[in-house]
Amino acid sequence: MKAPEFPDDEVDRVAALHRYAALDSPPSTSFDEITRLAALVLDVPIALVSMVDTQTQWFKAKFGLDVDRTGRDISFCGHAILDDGVLVVPDALADERFADNPLVTGPPHIRFYAGAPLRTPEGHRIGTLCVIDPEPREGITDPERKALVALASLVVDEFELRLKTAELEQRDEEVSRYYEVMGASTDYMGLATPEGVVLGLNPAALEMVGLPPDADVRGRSVAEFHSPEATRLILDVGFPQAIETGSWRGEADIRRIDGTVVPVDQIILCHRDDAGEISYFSTVARDISERTEIVRLQQLQAMKDEFVSTASHELRTPITAVVASLGMLADGVIGELPPGAQEVIDIALVNSNRLVRLVDDLLDLSKLTDGAGDLVMVDVATVELVDSAVAAVEPLAVASGVAIVVDDGTDGGSIRVDPERFERALVNLVGNAVKYSTSGGTVTIGVRRTIDATEIEVVDEGIGIDPEVIPRLFDPFWRVDPTANNAVGGTGLGLAITRRIVENHGGRIEVVSGLGEGARFRIVLPDATGSSN
Ligand code: ADP
Repeated sequence: MKAPEFPDDEVDRVAALHRYAALDSPPSTSFDEITRLAALVLDVPIALVSMVDTQTQWFKAKFGLDVDRTGRDISFCGHAILDDGVLVVPDALADERFADNPLVTGPPHIRFYAGAPLRTPEGHRIGTLCVIDPEPREGITDPERKALVALASLVVDEFELRLKTAELEQRDEEVSRYYEVMGASTDYMGLATPEGVVLGLNPAALEMVGLPPDADVRGRSVAEFHSPEATRLILDVGFPQAIETGSWRGEADIRRIDGTVVPVDQIILCHRDDAGEISYFSTVARDISERTEIVRLQQLQAMKDEFVSTASHELRTPITAVVASLGMLADGVIGELPPGAQEVIDIALVNSNRLVRLVDDLLDLSKLTDGAGDLVMVDVATVELVDSAVAAVEPLAVASGVAIVVDDGTDGGSIRVDPERFERALVNLVGNAVKYSTSGGTVTIGVRRTIDATEIEVVDEGIGIDPEVIPRLFDPFWRVDPTANNAVGGTGLGLAITRRIVENHGGRIEVVSGLGEGARFRIVLPDATGSSN
């Protein structure tokens, strides 16, 4: 007797066999039917579906035999699986491989054997569909051989079908477990097959895409819920990376049914079954429109600041030249002007001077946008700083017939500030107080120490401000009524600059006013950040 050899793919072959065998298959009616059919077609008393395991062959289905297994070493099928073709033994007694085989010399007294290997789609021969007769035969006819091969492939199909069903059942089980988690989450969660077919979305996801919570989206394409770009990203990058490393994270989007798109931070996980085969993908996505919007606004702001700063620099030189030239014309340095020309030149001069102020203010503001980092902090006597701001505004006050009084009754002590910047803030406030006062009015500046701060107040008796517009007062370019105020001339940037300077020093600015009641602007500079008292 000759025991069968082991095929080259033995390890993988046995693994493939166990994949099928591990299935808790229901009573194998279909396999029984196939063996019955094989016995009928080949006119033999015994037909078997034999699985060739490492040491034994066991019978998945049997017709006409009451044995469950035999040793592999004495098995005919062990020989049959060594080749793709059908193994035919017309008379075992006449074959040296089997003549003294106990299955030949004893029950079931095999004389004729024909076995077609069960070949898996991967090419492993895991067993046979075989027929046995205790009587020898000539061999088998071609139709008989073809029938045996066809029935053997039916056996494999049945195994494959059961495997797929088991996989799907396992997936369904996992998916329903997942659904319990998904239902409770407020994030967008979904499941999809590796082909990009949606298996389900949680209520939060349905809401995000604009569908009712009980909508059934199973079977729809992933592409329906994302923009074309995001779909490509998910299928071409997300899925492959999730397959390779288990997960992928990136910025994609969710497309609502109305066509609008929500940017999301998306995570994709690849789930596998026990055999390591990809089962499905799950995803969690979080709306990041706000974050995206903030980044967009920050970028816009940075671009704007950059533009303002560059444009102002570029404007300054030519405008300065224009002002100088107009000044020379107006002063008659070039020569006497024709009648009427003097007036035109004066208007041009006033407006170019306004332009210079505007450019200067813009430059200041854009520099301040960069933050407080570049402040040069020094201890200075508060009243000294106020006096020097007053001195700067004094010519305007004199021209407007407005008196400026510094109330230094209390000791204002000293403050720790960037003197140049802080004086600019004070000049703006005192300048406004004068600009918006009527002739004969008084502007009073008071300096006060509280327990933990220094307060500087600029009070005027001018036209006042409608309390309703106070919240907008510090917006760049905002002016109460640009046309009405034109005579006074201003850029609408002064208060924006002032507030930024004060805030960069860690302080705040307060306003109390009413129409026709004058205005009271107060800078509060807390000690912790500003004063050295
Ligand atoms: P402007 O260059 O126009 O003075 P500001 O930013 O300094 O710009 O002020 C914004 C607006 O606030 C002014 O146009 C003016 O309408 C109003 N305003 C500022 N200070 C006073 C004040 N002391 N009294 C009345 N209105 C004021």
